[in-house]
Amino acid sequence: MVDPRAGDGPVDCPTDGGRRRDKVMAYASTLFRSTPDGMAEAARGYIDKGFHAVKFGWGVFGEDTGRDRELVAAARDALGPDRHLLVDPGWYPAGWSKPGPMRSRREAIELCDWLADYNVGWVEDFIHPERFDEYAEVRALSPVPIAAGEQLATVWEFERFIGEGCVDIIQPDLSRCGGLTVARRIAQMAERTNIDLVPHSWLTHLLTGYSLQLIATLPRAPFVEFNVSQSALTGGIAQAGFKLDEDGMITIPDGPGGGVAVDVDFIAAHRVTL
Ligand SMILES: [Mg+2]
Repeated sequence: MVDPRAGDGPVDCPTDGGRRRDKVMAYASTLFRSTPDGMAEAARGYIDKGFHAVKFGWGVFGEDTGRDRELVAAARDALGPDRHLLVDPGWYPAGWSKPGPMRSRREAIELCDWLADYNVGWVEDFIHPERFDEYAEVRALSPVPIAAGEQLATVWEFERFIGEGCVDIIQPDLSRCGGLTVARRIAQMAERTNIDLVPHSWLTHLLTGYSLQLIATLPRAPFVEFNVSQSALTGGIAQAGFKLDEDGMITIPDGPGGGVAVDVDFIAAHRVTL
């Protein structure tokens, strides 16, 4: 049966692994700060570094709805109307540090409604990843595009998640989904279903490097996730000269090994023996 969302495009996907682009917009991926001033300062800092897109996630978000709005408003204000603002609320309304009851379906829909006031590009992973039917229901009602999938693994889970209409942006993590081989299958599903794919790459430059290789093959590629946390492990585990151009784009490396070189000395120095 032909998927009705496939539109007029080809049902058999032409995603063959060939390179389709040399660069992609990077979004700075970071945690919510606890005050509006902190959000504005952080957003300005990422602008100064050359980013045209920022995602704030988890942290204090969910503890207080009034403050949540102030935090998102401060970020939008600092970024201005033309830069991209993405939000990753987390599954727990009281934040990851104080896990409690998850937000209800009604609360999830209300969250999407008010985030739309700030022209948020997507709302991410804010429903427990095993609740597929809830994703589908909320997505059908949300004015903001829904992004998720970082917790899923195997072709079969992605077939269900995408097939049941759960997301507008699918986010496979190449270190969890089954690697590049499975990720290419997911890219075919995304193309057939006419949704976007942005790999989850919150960790090291090694993961970012391999994510960029997948992105190079996609027919549409809105972003690459770029971890801007301060951990030495993020950038130390693999040598990569990622640089932003004036449009906030990163050049996709074309060297061997995914374009990033593992630093075996760094890994040896940080090895932990239990
Ligand atoms: Mg996330």
